[in-house]
Amino acid sequence: MDANTLHIGGIEFNILALLGIIAILGLVIGYFLGKRKQFTDSSRRRSNSPEDYSVFFKGIQYILANETDQAIEAFSRAVQVNSETIETYVTLGNLFRVKGEIDRAIRIRQTILLREKVDERTKLQALFDMGMDYKQGGFLQRAISTFEEVIRRAPKRLDAHKELEGLYEATHDWQRAYEMQKEIGKLSNTNNQHIMAHLKTEQAKIEMEKGNLDSANAHLKKALSLDPTCVDASLQLGSMYWLKNKKKKALATWKKLVKNNPRWAHLILNRLEEQDGMPADEAKILEFLEKIAEENLDALARLALARCFMKRDRREQALASLRRALELKPDLGEARKMLGEVLLEKGDEKGALSEYRNLLDHLGPTTKSYRCQQCGLESDKIVWKCPGCHNWDTVQPRKIVGD
Ligand SMILES: [Zn+2]
Repeated sequence: MDANTLHIGGIEFNILALLGIIAILGLVIGYFLGKRKQFTDSSRRRSNSPEDYSVFFKGIQYILANETDQAIEAFSRAVQVNSETIETYVTLGNLFRVKGEIDRAIRIRQTILLREKVDERTKLQALFDMGMDYKQGGFLQRAISTFEEVIRRAPKRLDAHKELEGLYEATHDWQRAYEMQKEIGKLSNTNNQHIMAHLKTEQAKIEMEKGNLDSANAHLKKALSLDPTCVDASLQLGSMYWLKNKKKKALATWKKLVKNNPRWAHLILNRLEEQDGMPADEAKILEFLEKIAEENLDALARLALARCFMKRDRREQALASLRRALELKPDLGEARKMLGEVLLEKGDEKGALSEYRNLLDHLGPTTKSYRCQQCGLESDKIVWKCPGCHNWDTVQPRKIVGD
């Protein structure tokens, strides 16, 4: 069975097609509500001809049968029957977009924009729809300039701000995304400082890659002033100090982060495993690791800690950390595999064999380490913005039991 297929009462439905139909039905119902309003609003206006309606009903029947091509043809005919009806154009344009025929959708928006008798509000909506068409077609720069134009004409339009912010993020234009997010906060009167902190942190990462550490530092300080609990900002601040060769400050920043958020400790330890310290730093790093080992760490952090110890030839401490990880989470396959390897290296073949046997016992569907609290999406690596529901800070490490 296809993953996108749903069975209800013995009938197969394609979920994507169903969603498409629901979206189109919404548009069509909107069209008819608009029509009814138009009809009741003014008796001076000429009523729509019955032929117009019959063509529309035909169109709906095609949509219900998931025959988009025929639906488009029916709606196109409606445009010819009553070319003054702007809603028909809008519906047709949206249908083309759903179908992926972006060129035709855009041509329809242009037709609306060029019409003399169309009011400003409708033209603005056509411009917005054109931005959506460009976005859907993957023409991100054109989508950006279209939404920028919408905002120039209607500076308080929240939906356009949100679209534009998303596009700036998608093109990694973090400064503009940040400014747009600031406007969204004002327009919607919501507190979105935790998102702004992430956008500043992303900007800092790019500056760090370029070697502009002072600029990265300024962005991270700003991020933490917006949201002192931003885990990624603290993580990066530590990295920035590390790159600046301020190892003591880096370790102090990370230690504070572990104290405040023990469930994110594994991210710091993973990072520390990658960092190579100068021999002079190694004593500081070991002291840091030993201090961290006393904290109330979860299985993921214990595994990461074991790797850090192994890298520094502290086999006994690594073994203790792995055993603790497996007590907390017996099915943590990676920890068991590593335990086997460390025991083999130590010459303890019997112990290694027993761990590998244990590993086989616990073989099963592997669970991913992170889960979105909002939409349930699972991930192997940390993502600060969920790719499923597009919320920030909703993806969290799984709890050890349950979740
Ligand atoms: Zn989500």
